[in-house]
Amino acid sequence: MIAANWKMHMTSAEAGSYVTDLIKRVKDISRTEIVLCPPFTALGTVDQMIAHSNIKLGAQNMYPAEKGAITGEISPLMLKDIGCSYVILGHSERRSIFGETDEDVNKKARMAMECRLLPIICIGETLEQKKAGDTERVIASQLKGCLTGIGDMEGVVIAYEPVWAISGGDPDIKPATPEEAQKIHSRIRSVIQEIYDKDTAESVLILYGGSMKPENAADLLAQPDIDGGLVGSASLKPESFEPIITAAEKSQE
Ligand code: PEP
Repeated sequence: MIAANWKMHMTSAEAGSYVTDLIKRVKDISRTEIVLCPPFTALGTVDQMIAHSNIKLGAQNMYPAEKGAITGEISPLMLKDIGCSYVILGHSERRSIFGETDEDVNKKARMAMECRLLPIICIGETLEQKKAGDTERVIASQLKGCLTGIGDMEGVVIAYEPVWAISGGDPDIKPATPEEAQKIHSRIRSVIQEIYDKDTAESVLILYGGSMKPENAADLLAQPDIDGGLVGSASLKPESFEPIITAAEKSQE
């Protein structure tokens, strides 16, 4: 799976031109699941444009209730209604800017699953945690916290996004090396095995995020435990997103 997290970018008109271009570029992709996660305001436009294509739709957040007096929030049923198959939960920007905790992410993930919306659950350590040698403990604790009470992992996607590697387009921020990322992905799979079982651990998709770009996608995707990417800045232009999708497709040949 290669998923685009557009964050707070793209008007509906911009999204429309992007999708017109991307659809042509990826029409022959058959092994890789392509997911676009636009801002809420562009979901409707993108949904209409990707009908009959090989692209799926995801949102970037949701509130954990079906409906209610909760001004300014969007429910999982609304996301299903507008065509979403996926929802990104617990992105580090939600955690750092809005104070979301593993418990919040867990509530959202459980409600998403109840509404048959598949969560892409983001986890990842900060630079301070990495420097303190705390990465594996943080990852295990986030996974356990986010997955509490989720009995069936079918369709749940985990995205490992080391916070120190998320660039937002800043060229000075360096991504994890393929070896560094593989080590943590393998640890994530073992924690999932500890919580669930071997079959679940083997089948769960673990995406890497934290500057997957055309230059490093093939090397990251060649790692045995990296099953795809959650792509931020490089997903904002079809010309930089397409080579990442093509690298994913080739990695499965
Ligand atoms: C992200 O924040 O999900 C992300 C991966 O960003 P970038 O690709 O810009 O590092």
